[in-house]
Amino acid sequence: MEYYGSIEAGGTKFVCAVADEDLQIVERISLPTTLPEETLAQVFAFFDAYQLKALGVGSFGPIDVNRQSSTYGYITSTPKLGWKNVDFLGALKKRYDIPIAWTTDVNAAAYGEMHLGAGKNTQSCIYLTVGTGVGGGAVVNGDVLQGFSHPEMGHISVARHPDDTLESTCPYHSHCLEGLAAGPALEKRTGVKGQLLEGTHDVWAIEAFYLAQALMNYTLILSPEKIILGGGVMKQQHLFPKIRESLVKQLGGYVELPDLEEYIVGCDLGDNSGTMGCLLLAKEQESLK
Ligand code: ADP
Ligand code: ZN
Repeated sequence: MEYYGSIEAGGTKFVCAVADEDLQIVERISLPTTLPEETLAQVFAFFDAYQLKALGVGSFGPIDVNRQSSTYGYITSTPKLGWKNVDFLGALKKRYDIPIAWTTDVNAAAYGEMHLGAGKNTQSCIYLTVGTGVGGGAVVNGDVLQGFSHPEMGHISVARHPDDTLESTCPYHSHCLEGLAAGPALEKRTGVKGQLLEGTHDVWAIEAFYLAQALMNYTLILSPEKIILGGGVMKQQHLFPKIRESLVKQLGGYVELPDLEEYIVGCDLGDNSGTMGCLLLAKEQESLK
């Protein structure tokens, strides 16, 4: 039997999975991300046990997704030790002579959630993860959105909350979304990790303000049918109503939004958004062969 493979390549872990024709997962493993040769050897050991017909890869980045580029398939400017300028897709192609879909981790998650999860019945949605970093992917009219490169929705500029004096945790930007609202920013602001903070803490109003401001901008630019929020920080369920409320306030009534409970939602596929997206991309890639 032949299978579809999926690699969700993250900065801390790689999740690899194989699935059958109906995209039912047959086996799934999680590996720590160490050095490329070491991690890739484990990835190969996992997939070598299967006959694959196509593979879908959603990678941490930035990555090169421009087919015209000489470094297409590379992880480019990551600070992650050993992974800068690594020909990730090339290494996979060398090992497996099969169609391989290549995109960002968040694009894959957006694709998975849109087709099989929270975004079912829509054609355009945004997926934003708020964790160690902030990353977003968009599916527009059914396709993953890419241009000269891929979107970097976590690094948009945001206006500061009047009560916030935190120095941004992003080394590139003094007031980007990631630098002011990712898990490390929450931790720097309060002295404790986000998972240890009570829902009543004042910091959540600041957090919701930044996330809502970002969602307002995405809304105004892309007008998606749905915005799906995931990642560790979004496990704080009380953030959802706070974000919706802040979004309405910041928009000032300029755009009439869809029903907010339907418009801003959590993930449906849990930890499998990226994996399902990669599997689906693999299956579609295979059919294009
Ligand atoms: P990663 O982004 O590395 O893939 P996560 O999405 O789990 O992993 O994000 C980890 C970040 O999210 C850390 O900064 C952590 O403190 C924060 N975090 C994890 N769980 C929670 C939670 N329940 N509430 C708030 N913050 C959380
Ligand atoms: Zn930034």
